Amino acid sequence: MERVRWKRLICNNYATPKSKFIIWMVLHNRLPTVDRIRRWGINCDARCSLCRSEEESLQHLFFSCDNASAIWREICRLMRFDDSGGLYQDVISSACSQARKKKGKLFVMFFTKSVHAIWRQRNSQIFRESCKDTNVVLRDIFFKVATRCTDVERRRLLM
Ligand SMILES: [Zn+2]
Repeated sequence: MERVRWKRLICNNYATPKSKFIIWMVLHNRLPTVDRIRRWGINCDARCSLCRSEEESLQHLFFSCDNASAIWREICRLMRFDDSGGLYQDVISSACSQARKKKGKLFVMFFTKSVHAIWRQRNSQIFRESCKDTNVVLRDIFFKVATRCTDVERRRLLM
């Protein structure tokens, strides 16, 4: 991930401190994803707990996993971002680089909440062997962003 660009996410971000902390962990590659845990010499199932088809890495979990793609697809649709290339990391990266602009600010909140939600889904699947339906997760993300954004931003979302 392009570090300098992504660092802008921490400033200019109105999401909750807890969500921002997860973003900070992602930016610094500190989240204990399975690929990292295995590099520490701990033997555990390498597969992503959400799709069970590929190795869990930061890149996979937050961008290429079907679970993450479904979330980004819906957010891109809502924000009217062109995701026809299907590379959500590119769309997200360019949107976040405009964090100081109005639309970018709103997207940064969506991004932060989504990353937090994906991480919670992953933990819930690993530790409780259950996770929420993607539609429920999306509703939760929309609700949380809507309660923290300004009236103008909320109107933009509803337009
Ligand atoms: Zn996966």
